[in-house]
Amino acid sequence: MKAKTPPSNSNFVKAAIDNDIKSGKLNERRWNGKPSLLSEHEKANVDPARIRTRFPPEPNGYLHIGHAKSICLNFGLANEYGGICHLRFDDTNPATEDNEYVDSIRDSVKWLGFDWGPHEYFSSDYFGRLYEFAEALINADLAYVDSLDAEEMRQYRGTLTEPGENSPFRTRSRDENLTLFQEMRQGNHAEGVHVLRLKIDMASPNINLRDPVAYRIKHASHHRTGNTWSIYPSYDFTHGVSDALENITHSICTLEFEDHRPLYDWLNQQLMELGFFQKPLPRQIEFARLNLSHVILSKRKLIQLVKEKHVEGWDDPRMPTLVGARRRGYSAEGLRMFTDRIGVSKADSWIDYTILEDCMREALNESSMRKIAVLNPIKLVIENFEAGHTETCFAPNHPQQKELGKRDVSLSKELWIEREDFSENPPKGYFRLFVGNTVRLRYGYVIKCTGFEKDEQGIVRTVFCEYFPDSKSGTPGADTYKVKGNIHWVDANNSVKADVILYDRLFKTEHPGEHGDFIDDLNPNSKKVIEVQIEHSAAQATAGECFQFERHGYFTVDPSSKTENLIFNRTVTLRDSWKK
Ligand code: ATP
Ligand code: MG
Repeated sequence: MKAKTPPSNSNFVKAAIDNDIKSGKLNERRWNGKPSLLSEHEKANVDPARIRTRFPPEPNGYLHIGHAKSICLNFGLANEYGGICHLRFDDTNPATEDNEYVDSIRDSVKWLGFDWGPHEYFSSDYFGRLYEFAEALINADLAYVDSLDAEEMRQYRGTLTEPGENSPFRTRSRDENLTLFQEMRQGNHAEGVHVLRLKIDMASPNINLRDPVAYRIKHASHHRTGNTWSIYPSYDFTHGVSDALENITHSICTLEFEDHRPLYDWLNQQLMELGFFQKPLPRQIEFARLNLSHVILSKRKLIQLVKEKHVEGWDDPRMPTLVGARRRGYSAEGLRMFTDRIGVSKADSWIDYTILEDCMREALNESSMRKIAVLNPIKLVIENFEAGHTETCFAPNHPQQKELGKRDVSLSKELWIEREDFSENPPKGYFRLFVGNTVRLRYGYVIKCTGFEKDEQGIVRTVFCEYFPDSKSGTPGADTYKVKGNIHWVDANNSVKADVILYDRLFKTEHPGEHGDFIDDLNPNSKKVIEVQIEHSAAQATAGECFQFERHGYFTVDPSSKTENLIFNRTVTLRDSWKK
């Protein structure tokens, strides 16, 4: 089940990989003269000539369109180079992680079209190994237990312009460090009393190298390891080491980790010197994260939208989560096309949401069957059509794919047409219905408008017309009628009432939160439910089915939809209505 990703454009990540292949670096194995300390599981992954990437989500939220970029990049590279991409749950923070998120992440990656085969891993599976590495680093005088409190630690750390100072605990003896670290593990100390730090350089111009924290005390239950541990490794201590344990060749991450790369390299280098890893060590490469206009892509803020009920849940079709996108009707193919089109770069930028929508239109145009729906119905009465009589017209299921055939649509004396297809006072250039004008009923007859009727409020309720019996589409002579307007309709006798949910941007500003609280930028009109009339052949549509409603756009059946009460989500309009 490998997704079809067209060979994507060349980019700096691929140039770096090509370079590593050419230089022979990936075939290099060096053991430092010491016996292999790899576990059986780790040996299974030793195949350094092969490109290995990983997608490393923290299971503390649902995946969003930004993650899709990272997924397509990592899995795409593995596919292209005949390599392997691991799915690794980076689950080192017991407070925020949950199995609900693990399941949804698996589903979303699969839905996007990627397969990690047997290569599913959890950082928490390495807790034992990480502890062993920590002890080895203490033994090698490369780590120590610090007992400054958080505030003192901050003071000793220095600033961007001033070097830090050594903690008074930095010179603790190896034995004292080992004893304290073991006590931390056994849960003998309260949270915050001690931490384990790497002994690097408090004067380094890179703050990440000023003795970063490797372990913290947390008396918390973990979603996989339960109460086994009272200490948890930091992201920096875990991430690079997990990459090395899995023999990842290229660890691709977002730009905010650029300054962490020297630490990433330092740690793996030390552990290699100690005999735990072999060459080649993984190489971290950073790219710019996706920023999408009118969209929030921060897990913390997305959680806030759900918790404060600004949206109806993680899978609300207005959410940029992959479950939301899917419910909205966005296709995986469209998302892959999008990530391919925007490419990868080193420079932060904003991508316009319309690029994503254009990709959806392109993907959905291919895959969607056509149906007719009248979104804002008013009655049309054909005065010279026999009451009680029904005729059959034929509409193509897909105009560009003739092999998909045609379907029957019925026509009788009373039809539903769009309110905007009639005008009492037609502006210049209006070719649709107004008294005296002729138009074609798409796939049916040419009609001439004869009059209209209003209700007490002055709102037009019914439009009247006459039809030309020899003008039916597809019959000889029908072409002799030359009309400029062509309107769609459904048979009022045979149509089905349904709800359509129209979605608009969730945020009214291009960069939500740029000038204050992002919540203030929510678009109050991002969702509108309307009652529509759809053609009879769509009556049995089931959840997830996607159609093009002619002249309107792409719509998908919502999972909450029932045959007796169909609900469609508007995925995207046919044309861009947002660009001014
Ligand atoms: P957190 O703030 O919780 O760390 P995160 O969005 O970084 O949030 P992770 O689960 O750590 O979430 O992300 C998994 C992977 O997806 C990481 O490699 C991260 O770099 C990548 N990623 C996250 N957001 C984006 C984005 N907007 N564009 C591209 N890649 C992203
Ligand atoms: Mg992250």
